[in-house]
Amino acid sequence: VDAQAQQAGYPRWVRINTLVTCLEDQLDTTFAHFERVLNIKAVIVPNGEKLIYIDPHIPNLVAASPNVDLTKTEAYASGAIILQDKASCFPAYLLDPGSEDGDVLDACAAPGNKTTHLAAILYQHHPDPMHFDQAVIACEKDRTRAGTLDKMVKKAAADQICKLLLGQDFLKIDPNDPRYRNVGALLLDPSCSGSGIVGRDCIPTIHLPRDSIEGNPQPKLDGSKKRKRETNEEEEGQQESRALVDDDGGMILVGSDPELEERLGALSSFQLMLLLHAFKFPSAKKITYSTCSIYAEENEKVVGRALQSHVARARGWKILARKDQVRGLREWPIRGELASCDSNEGIADAVIRSYKDDGRGVMGFFVAGFVRDDK
Ligand code: SAM
Repeated sequence: VDAQAQQAGYPRWVRINTLVTCLEDQLDTTFAHFERVLNIKAVIVPNGEKLIYIDPHIPNLVAASPNVDLTKTEAYASGAIILQDKASCFPAYLLDPGSEDGDVLDACAAPGNKTTHLAAILYQHHPDPMHFDQAVIACEKDRTRAGTLDKMVKKAAADQICKLLLGQDFLKIDPNDPRYRNVGALLLDPSCSGSGIVGRDCIPTIHLPRDSIEGNPQPKLDGSKKRKRETNEEEEGQQESRALVDDDGGMILVGSDPELEERLGALSSFQLMLLLHAFKFPSAKKITYSTCSIYAEENEKVVGRALQSHVARARGWKILARKDQVRGLREWPIRGELASCDSNEGIADAVIRSYKDDGRGVMGFFVAGFVRDDK
């Protein structure tokens, strides 16, 4: 995200970590020499000035001029500020966990930006912080990335609030295990194509979990297939085919359109499986599902399939309607792609999207909220 902030047209989005500091203190210290502006457009055009914009949708979020390296500040070193894209702040804020929600489970947590955001919100909402009795349970399957999660949570002073399940596969957690009896809300931000990330817009890229998931028809990158693909691409004069491991926990495959469809199919099956698993937690009443993907296959289509599932119907899960969303996100104007919503569940108006390169200075993102009544 920090590298992204340096791209033209993008500010440095800074979340003020309310576990350590507050917005007013940061305006008086880290941003003391910044001039406040009332329009995001002024900040995203780098002109050498130090400008700051207080975001109207997400509390404790500011956009600063991209020409300033905030990683050199004391506030960054101490965890008082966290560099996090605005869209990446949508899921925890939309989930809006409160004191009545029990524990909150972050199912795919590393590197931990949303985990520490959840911890800050939960702590702020608690009526008596001296007797804080809730936890953010953060689960991360990949051991290397789990190490980063551990560091980030400590740096953000969220370690008293977070219980980390390092190396834990979310799908292997038994929702009926007594340890998860009090989980009232889940945040699900699974591996995705990463196609909304700034700088990944010139070629289609697909991001797969590192190891295959049981029962998931995930295409393998075996030698014969790779060779075949390269031959096809040479014949058709298409993009170079290559595989990379990225810093977001998975494999990026760059390929042609039929492959894109195949990979999106595998990814969306995996994402749906995780969402249906989240629906099974007996005390859960709220879930957010998010991706940094631009593709409806990973977004509106997954939401539609999830709502039509047996488990959703049996447990009464519904989409969180726009009118019931938290202030700020209710007013966010960019909603779902109507053409990709083939049911009457009000999905298009309920889900939240953002698009890179639309002048708002955010990455491409998708988030949907789910709720259910007591059953
Ligand atoms: N929520 C994170 C944040 O905001 O910092 C980013 C999450 S990243 C998009 C997805 C993460 O899910 C990766 O770290 C990946 O290793 C993890 N993951 C994938 N499959 C998982 C599973 N079955 N159980 C737990 N974690 C999983």
